[in-house]
Amino acid sequence: MLVEFAKNTPQPKIDEIVHLLDNAGCRVRSMHCYGHPVLRAVSGHINGQMRELQANSYIERIVDASTPWELVSRAYHQDDTVVQVGSARVGDRSEGLMMIAGPCSVESEEQILKAAHIVKAHGASILRGGAFKPRTSPYSFQGLEEKGLALLRKAGDTVGLPVVTEVLDAGDVDMVASYADMLQVGSRNMQNFKLLKAVGRSGKPVMLKRGMSAQLSEFLLSAEYILSEGNSDVVLCERGVRTFADYTRNMLDLNIVPLIRDTSHLPIIVDPSHGSGDRKLIEPLCMAALSVGAQGLMVEVHPDPDHSWSDSEQTITEAAFGELMGKLQHLDGWLNAESYTETNS
Ligand code: PEP
Ligand code: MN
Repeated sequence: MLVEFAKNTPQPKIDEIVHLLDNAGCRVRSMHCYGHPVLRAVSGHINGQMRELQANSYIERIVDASTPWELVSRAYHQDDTVVQVGSARVGDRSEGLMMIAGPCSVESEEQILKAAHIVKAHGASILRGGAFKPRTSPYSFQGLEEKGLALLRKAGDTVGLPVVTEVLDAGDVDMVASYADMLQVGSRNMQNFKLLKAVGRSGKPVMLKRGMSAQLSEFLLSAEYILSEGNSDVVLCERGVRTFADYTRNMLDLNIVPLIRDTSHLPIIVDPSHGSGDRKLIEPLCMAALSVGAQGLMVEVHPDPDHSWSDSEQTITEAAFGELMGKLQHLDGWLNAESYTETNS
C-alpha cells in the first residue's frame, strides 16, 4: 500500500502522518516518486488508519498495487514511463525504432569512433560500449576503465549520440555518471543491492539488465530498489536466461516482454546479442522482440567483429547492422501503424 501526498506537501504535514502511523504500530519508509512524497509500510499495516488518511487533504491517493513491487507497477502509474536519455526517448514508440548499438567493449579511440559512426549512420539512438567489463575469467580483457569512459564520451559527442555504459561497483557510480548519459547495471549485478541504491541516487537514467536466473518478481523488485531511491528513469532489459538448452549462450525469454508491459509502466527493451550469443540469430530475434512489444533493442556492433576483444561470436558487422536496421524500421513502422489503427478504430 502506497500513500501518496500532493507535490510540495510541507514536511511537517508528512511527519504528522508518519507519527500517526507509528503510534498505531506501523513503521513506514518515506520516499519520493515523480515529485510526490510517498509512504510505504515496512512493518505493520496502515489499514486501521485508513479513515484518517482518506480525510487528510494533503493525501492525494492511497494505492493498493496488490503486487510485491509497487512503485514500478501499473496500478501505481498507469501511463508508460518515457525515459529521456540525452536526445533519445526510451519508451516512446511514436519516436520510431529505439536502437542502442555499439561494441561490447571500448578497445581504442579508433575502434569506438568507427563504431560510433557506423551505428549513427544506420539510425541508432544511443551508443553503447563497456569500459568496466564483468568477465567470467579474471584473465579476459577487463575493460579500459576510466580511459574507456572518456573515449566513449568523446565518440558519442563526435557523432551526436548519447552513451550508455556499465557500472560494476557502487563506489564508481559518481565517476561513471560523470561520463555517461545512462548507467547500465549488468545481469550479474541485478541483485547487487548496494549498487541499485547507488544508481537510484545518481540522478542518471539506469538500464537494468535481467539477472540470468531472475524471476519476473525479482527483476521488478530490483527496479523497485532504484525507484524507491527517488529515480524513476529506469529502462528494463531482457538479455536471456539460463536453461537446459545448450545450443545458445542464453535463452532469450520473450515471454517476459508482454508480461512486463502489462504489469509495469517501465519501458522494456531486448538484447538479443547476449540473449543468444550468436550473430546469426540477431535479426530474427530483433524482429520477434519488436513484435511482442519491446520498446527498444540493444545490439553489439563492431567495425571488425571477428577481432572484437569480447563477445566476438555475437557481434555483427556494419553491413549486417545496416541491413538489420532497414528491416526493423519497416517492421516498426508497420507495428506502430497497426497499434494506431487499433486504438482509433
Ligand atoms: C553487456 O551488455 O555489456 C553485458 C555484459 O551484458 P549482460 O550483463 O547482460 O551479460
Ligand atoms: Mn558483450
